[in-house]
Amino acid sequence: MMNTSPLLEVNDLGLRLRTHGGMVNAVRGVSFTLRRGETLGLVGESGCGKSLTAMTIMGLQPEGAVASGSLRFHGEEMIGQSEARWCALRGDRIGMVFQEPMSALNPVHTVGHQVAEPLRLHRGLNAAAARKEAVALLDRVGIADAARRFDAWPHQFSGGQRQRITIAMALACGPDLLIADEPTTALDVTIAGQILQLIRDLVRERSMGLILISHDLGVIAQNVERMMVMYGGLVVESGPTRDVFTRRAHPYTQGLFGSRPQLGPQERPPGGQRARLAAIPGNVPELRHMPPGCPFAGRCAVAMPTCESRMPADTRLAHGHHARCALLESAG
Ligand code: SF4
Repeated sequence: MMNTSPLLEVNDLGLRLRTHGGMVNAVRGVSFTLRRGETLGLVGESGCGKSLTAMTIMGLQPEGAVASGSLRFHGEEMIGQSEARWCALRGDRIGMVFQEPMSALNPVHTVGHQVAEPLRLHRGLNAAAARKEAVALLDRVGIADAARRFDAWPHQFSGGQRQRITIAMALACGPDLLIADEPTTALDVTIAGQILQLIRDLVRERSMGLILISHDLGVIAQNVERMMVMYGGLVVESGPTRDVFTRRAHPYTQGLFGSRPQLGPQERPPGGQRARLAAIPGNVPELRHMPPGCPFAGRCAVAMPTCESRMPADTRLAHGHHARCALLESAG
């Protein structure tokens, strides 16, 4: 029977960053639970805190940053853990896939060596057993003629193949949790679709938990059951993907939809001309200029005088669907 105890319990997770102007809050009050086989997406523009949230969950926060709150992996509190403990976990129980495969691969080692390395490090396999396992992994992620190409170098593969290889590395030790941070942004649309299909298949096949970070609502729609929309380091809307897509409760979520070609409202007006996209005005504020109240206040078309000074409450809209906006507080 499948173990349904939480894989990951995140409670009031925060991250403070050291800047020239002092410490700033980059991630604030992020809470969620993830079980094996569950999929969660983080979406938002660059600088909204989604990648820093993921980095904190992997124990890879920038130098001088201070994490707070609680992050329990299989019940073990990880906030405040030593780097040695994090290292034992990463690459073993937690697999990671990043945006740019070339920066994840070491150009001076063969791809086979890099896929086999975690098997030797974390599983203690000898060279022959690790090679056999690594060839099987390369084959599974779609590298043709894997046994022969085991000894090839990263530069001998295309971008899509390199991303397949980093997925094989992430999966080497059979992790319980896979974190993929914009895994297809550097790829063309056809290859991106194939990589996302591969990730979907592997998550299902191995019953892993998946955290997928993307700025692309289409990627989120097709790949995760639950999603969190982030802005200013806060989760401003969260819930089952279908519910968030249907209701689009938070003005920032509405702005993201409005600025996306395929999902934007009134994409094609009568006459068939493509409508001008409704980009969200302004930019994500710098962390040191974040208002004490709603972080979206400076760009929100329906902001009220109190929004900038008062932090709106997290309102429960329906089972599992929440949003943080003053206009929704009476709906809770
Ligand atoms: Fe807009 Fe105010 Fe809601 Fe923030 S709290 S999203 S500024 S209406």
